[in-house]
Amino acid sequence: IIRVRPLTCTETRRGDRRVVHSLGDSAVHVSATSPPGARRGLRHPLSCRCPHAQVSAARHDATFGFSAVFDAGASQEAVFEGSGMRQLVELAIDGFSCTVFAFGQTGSGKTYTLMGPLAQSESQPASPALLGLMQRSFTCLLEQSRSRSSDLALSASYLEIYNEQVRDLLSPGPPCALPLRWSKTRGFYVENQLSVDFESLEAIVSLLLQGSQRRRTSAHALNRHSSRSHALLTIHIRSRAVSAHPAPGEGEGASACPSKQGTLCFVDLAGSERVKETGSSGELSVEANSINRSLLALGHCISLLAKPRGKRTHIPYRDSKLTRLLARSLGGSGITLMVACISPSSRCLSETLSTLHYASRARRVTTRP
Ligand code: ADP
Ligand code: MG
Repeated sequence: IIRVRPLTCTETRRGDRRVVHSLGDSAVHVSATSPPGARRGLRHPLSCRCPHAQVSAARHDATFGFSAVFDAGASQEAVFEGSGMRQLVELAIDGFSCTVFAFGQTGSGKTYTLMGPLAQSESQPASPALLGLMQRSFTCLLEQSRSRSSDLALSASYLEIYNEQVRDLLSPGPPCALPLRWSKTRGFYVENQLSVDFESLEAIVSLLLQGSQRRRTSAHALNRHSSRSHALLTIHIRSRAVSAHPAPGEGEGASACPSKQGTLCFVDLAGSERVKETGSSGELSVEANSINRSLLALGHCISLLAKPRGKRTHIPYRDSKLTRLLARSLGGSGITLMVACISPSSRCLSETLSTLHYASRARRVTTRP
């Protein structure tokens, strides 16, 4: 799905034009020379239903089809309800590995879509209407777990990948790198990662806040406005037959009678913008390089996965930590929702186009849950 954010005050002030317009509910049109009607925010009269990008004669005019497109006016609730997020939560409870990605350039609204503005201001809690996909999913998950007969044990882990290092955002103290290992039974996993049990909405939201703040501090030093890491919040859902309540503090291995185990993973990717060769040096360029490398690796895996099943070659999950951690949700048995976030501004045109191309490739990937 695609989400277009509104123009920001700064963008409006400096006179940026809107170059992105949605055509109905499932297509988006990008144009450097937008018709005057569309410029005023009216729906484009041609409702185009093309499956993939169709680049027309004018170099920058392109139309892309997606499962759902949310325009600048769409509320957080509309995005939650219209993205299939509720079904994804239910599938995770049923034991599937579900993943939600937010992809897009810095400032395109990834964090806003996932968490709402709450991550931006620590002082005031955000208004309920602005809560993002994550909080809405937690609510949904907890409601479901109360209404179902089986007993659900919930726990969360929160990691970031910064400069190709995996760091735990929930463990106290300065972030330290954790080793990423592989085993036959578990696939890729992070050794010693902290997993915290929770039972209430307040508990999981506060874990999310704590973790995001740890993430932000490391981003602060260099760039206030951009997250230079990929953040992965995973909710582990173990369901057991109805029995006595789990003992508090019960660890991983001690579950009573393991039955289904699903996961719900939220991935806030680092900004996808290409870094200009000039101007980045030292630490910044190391950062930028590892972001570019891991997003490239992700894009590469996606391209290969998008090929018809028979023609597929080996998928290089090992190329980056990001793809290793996501191997299960990308390929095999996972169900993945990709939220590509774009800015409507004329200044972001080329990044917007590359995000849309990336997202249309991702759309062609089929998994076998
Ligand atoms: P990213 O995480 O992609 O770098 P952010 O989520 O931090 O971007 O969004 C950048 C800015 O745009 C923030 O100030 C955010 O509040 C604002 N913003 C993003 N999406 C929307 C939206 N749909 N409606 C209103 N404001 C938005
Ligand atoms: Mg962000």
